[in-house]
Amino acid sequence: MSTFSNAGGSAEVPMHEPLTGTLIFERGAAESRCVEAPPLDVPAVSLDAVLGGRARSVPPALPHVTEVDIARHYEHLASANFGVDSGFYPLGSCTMKYNPKIDEQACRLPGFARIHPYQPEETVQGALELMWGLQEALAEVAGLPVVTLQPAAGAHGELTALLTIRAYHTANGDPRAKVLVPDSAHGTNPATVAMCGYQVVQIPSDERGGVDLEALRAALDTDVAALMLTNPNTVGLFDENILAITEAVHAVGALAYCDGANLNAIMGKSRPGDMGFDAMHINLHKTFATPHGGGGPGAGPVAVTEPLASYLPGPLVARDGEMFTLSTPEHSIGRVRSFLGNFGVLVRAYTYIRAVGGEGLREISEQAVLSANYLKALLEDAWPVAYDRTCMHEFVMSGGPLRKATGVRTLDVAKRLLDYGIHPPTVYFPLIVEEALMVEPTETEGKATLDRFAAVLRLIAEEAQADPDLLHGAPYTTPVRRLDEAAAVKNADLAWRPEDVEA
Ligand SMILES: *Cc1c(COP(=O)(O)O)cnc(C)c1O
Repeated sequence: MSTFSNAGGSAEVPMHEPLTGTLIFERGAAESRCVEAPPLDVPAVSLDAVLGGRARSVPPALPHVTEVDIARHYEHLASANFGVDSGFYPLGSCTMKYNPKIDEQACRLPGFARIHPYQPEETVQGALELMWGLQEALAEVAGLPVVTLQPAAGAHGELTALLTIRAYHTANGDPRAKVLVPDSAHGTNPATVAMCGYQVVQIPSDERGGVDLEALRAALDTDVAALMLTNPNTVGLFDENILAITEAVHAVGALAYCDGANLNAIMGKSRPGDMGFDAMHINLHKTFATPHGGGGPGAGPVAVTEPLASYLPGPLVARDGEMFTLSTPEHSIGRVRSFLGNFGVLVRAYTYIRAVGGEGLREISEQAVLSANYLKALLEDAWPVAYDRTCMHEFVMSGGPLRKATGVRTLDVAKRLLDYGIHPPTVYFPLIVEEALMVEPTETEGKATLDRFAAVLRLIAEEAQADPDLLHGAPYTTPVRRLDEAAAVKNADLAWRPEDVEA
């Protein structure tokens, strides 16, 4: 702040340029221009005559701003959003980690960015080779032999895999009606089950946070098509009974499906195929680079065993000597996406995997697990951890005791974190933990960031004791304060109309 400025500003001379919350239409002044057209040097014609009387009589309500106003406007918009590159973003289950910039450069190379999906195969051999290499790498990470890169997101991968499983059962003359889903599952799992026309059967968790084996065994019968399981699960725990679980599922002729949205704890360490899973999806936009948020972009490749492979959507990339070709499996469920999938995301993931290598993937898993356990250890005396065991890439704390003691809810804590420049963790998920805060630090954050996060959360717990209303009113430093989140989603008002500007 300049030494000449007065402390509070005044009505006539505001302290700051009125950027925050201002639309470009509200900036500038009627006389402002950013381009001066040169004088007319051709005969003037009447626009109305050219347009046959349809020219508008009132000029459009365009903003009147100077060129530098435009630059500042867009600069402001670009920095108004919060991303991994702006601060710590420990959103559990979402793996919001730093994305190496080389992945962005690779997918912008003209040879990748400028090709067309209708080009003849022989002219896009490099792109097909990349896809083939990615299929191979993901098959290795999954421990399952056949991979399709078609699905555009995690939930889309779930849908693809479950349709594949349904086609398999139907072809065997045994369609089955139910799919089992643990109560800790991501919401997309039961939604996928319902979309595929199956009945959802919920399986409770046991007191150690894993699948309740007895309840699972009781629910298994020959009408069960599949179990959908996340491992490590959404409380950040590796299911100790995983082999017994998949064995019990197979014993009734059902298939085991792994929600592999987050592989950040296990890639290079243990493989879902080796745990007995028959199919899984992998979120490239979580584990394998691609900045995501706000709905995209993403890719959710699906990996399956040989018996399921002939039902996968096409096209798959095959290697034929020196050539790479596209083919559709014999009993394919059909296409699930146009062309070859979300190709830019595939390029990023392939670049990421090649840059770090197999050993690098393993180190990423180890570092992610270490970061989560370090943070858990820093916090657990102030913030009770839901299942106090060594965690994987994330852990879940409960804001239940704080709420009882102070009336401060997890939502208030999340909003207060924004004032400290930290994106809140995932809150109120999984549903089985009261006032849940689910923290995933990822491998890319340094120790100093983790230390600061722990210090801030401890401070917020103290603030809650001293002055609960401070937290009920947070955030104070953001462009907008506390929104009605349901209304913001249901009645989003994103259009600007000229009459919105006060005369
Ligand atoms: C993110 C996530 C999904 C859904 O992935 P999208 O790409 O958002 O559709 C499914 N399961 C788990 C465990 C997840 O974390």
